[in-house]
Amino acid sequence: MNRTYLTNIDTSISDVDFTQHKNAVFILHDQLNLDTWPSWIREEKPLLIFIESAAKGKTLPYHKKKLVYLLSSMRHFAIECAEAGFPVYYHSTKQHYDRALKDILSQYEDLHFTFMTPSEWDSRERLRTVISEFSTKVEEIPNNFFLADAEEYKERVKDGWLMEYFYREMRRKTGYLMDGEQPEGGEWNYDEQNREKLPKDHSVPSIAETETDEITREVIEMVEKWYSGHFGESEDFTYAVTRRQALYRLNEFIDERLDEFGPYEDAMAQGKYDLFHSQLSVYLNNGLILPKEACDKAEEAYKNGNARLNSVEGFIRQIIGWREYIRVYYEAMMPEVREANHFDFTNKIPEMYWSGETKMNCMSECLKPVIEQGYSHHIPRLMVLSNFSNLTETDPRELNRWFHLAYVDAYEWVVLPNVLGMSTFADGGVLASKPYVSSGNYINKMSDYCKHCDYKISKKTGEDACPFNYLYWNFIDKQRETFSKNGRANFMVNMFDKKSNEDKKAIFESSADFLEEISRYKKEQ
Ligand code: FAD
Ligand code: SF4
Repeated sequence: MNRTYLTNIDTSISDVDFTQHKNAVFILHDQLNLDTWPSWIREEKPLLIFIESAAKGKTLPYHKKKLVYLLSSMRHFAIECAEAGFPVYYHSTKQHYDRALKDILSQYEDLHFTFMTPSEWDSRERLRTVISEFSTKVEEIPNNFFLADAEEYKERVKDGWLMEYFYREMRRKTGYLMDGEQPEGGEWNYDEQNREKLPKDHSVPSIAETETDEITREVIEMVEKWYSGHFGESEDFTYAVTRRQALYRLNEFIDERLDEFGPYEDAMAQGKYDLFHSQLSVYLNNGLILPKEACDKAEEAYKNGNARLNSVEGFIRQIIGWREYIRVYYEAMMPEVREANHFDFTNKIPEMYWSGETKMNCMSECLKPVIEQGYSHHIPRLMVLSNFSNLTETDPRELNRWFHLAYVDAYEWVVLPNVLGMSTFADGGVLASKPYVSSGNYINKMSDYCKHCDYKISKKTGEDACPFNYLYWNFIDKQRETFSKNGRANFMVNMFDKKSNEDKKAIFESSADFLEEISRYKKEQ
């Protein structure tokens, strides 16, 4: 494989004589780690096929940085494989993968190829059409990028099995933070200690930035040319794009941020977007880093006394608990869940999710890193951006599409369960026990945003009152049927009912005005 790069679609980087190869392996953009593939591949070095599909890249107007990240990582990986002695065919096409693969298979009769089950539904369906046309020449092997066997848990998760119990089973299976049969320190979960606000002037270490090399610069040029109308900007691209660079970031997180990850896990702060979060989802989700590697290193930091237990347990729970559980949910609930919309909301997403422009400081602060970098940590996603979408009665499928296109770490298997299951209650309560909605109090408790806002957090209704305050009660009243069925949330309905008629009227009026005036995104997302 030569190192001439691709700025045009429908070209190949490498000249491969297919007649010289009997076995080929097709590697998708999120399967970039040969350690997870069967050992015969590393030993026999068959032809590796990589395809950049513009049709896939245009299924949504994905953030330009996401496209740059995915394509640059795949190109770097393909070049590394070629340097390690693999024959490599790297092709860029306007078509979908299945078309490109069918073209190859129909031209070269002796060629057989193997692919790993894609983690995303649509790619899986497409590749299965290749099997149905070329059944004797194509082999599908199970996806090996996750720790849990989805088949083992699917039915229980579909029946509402809680993440906490799944997580305990994963702790026992993996042995992380176990003291014999018991959890390290006596508790399974130390979240009680993980809800602190960031103290004023508390220093937060910065994350290393990777310099763009020639390959990434070429990809940026191509993305600007072929995906010009897409979300976000490609400039100031600083993500790692190779395994070595991603491992550097993992080590940096373990050494500099893991210890304080726990206490400030739910905190948000003006102008500080990563805080003590790892920003590793980007690398975990395309294989540059494996989940086991991240958890091994975190546990080692605890054993060496370099990170406190509540931080390490919290981090490991996110990976072997939430991340794995979310993926099992996807396997259990697809494809019907795609259309889930428990509250039957039909509104388009508010315009501000695209422009970032709003007087609401929390929204502006949480949208900024998404528009600029395609990233924010969990609490802005859940308690600000999803919360506001729920309170403004936005169609959850619209929100799901927005999260999918706007975040660098988004793939359908992970974004959909988080949006339609966790944050919007669109599935009616399979994943979450209640809708994630809150008034401005939560945001004020966990951040310093309200101090910098034009709206007044202390005001409950009226023009300059915090919109979260009245929209929250408006939502509780309108969706009382859902809340009343839930023991944990029913008390909110009771609280609303105890308000004076005057207060209720003011809540309804402020909400109606706000909902009528809010500008919605008009183009197709
Ligand atoms: P950290 O806080 O450092 O956590 C460590 C790791 O745990 C993450 O890298 C991630 O791999 C894993 N993790 C934690 N929570 C979850 C979770 N709920 N689901 C899956 N993995 C989890 N995560 C994605 O990877 N891609 C998405 O598209 C995505 N969309 C989301 C949308 C919404 C509405 C919500 C509420 C959450 C979403 N998440 C998504 C989960 C979570 O917010 C991100 O994984 C996390 O914020 C990534 O940042 P980090 O790497 O700094 O995470
Ligand atoms: Fe957000 Fe309300 Fe606080 Fe403003 S006052 S930052 S809108 S929570």
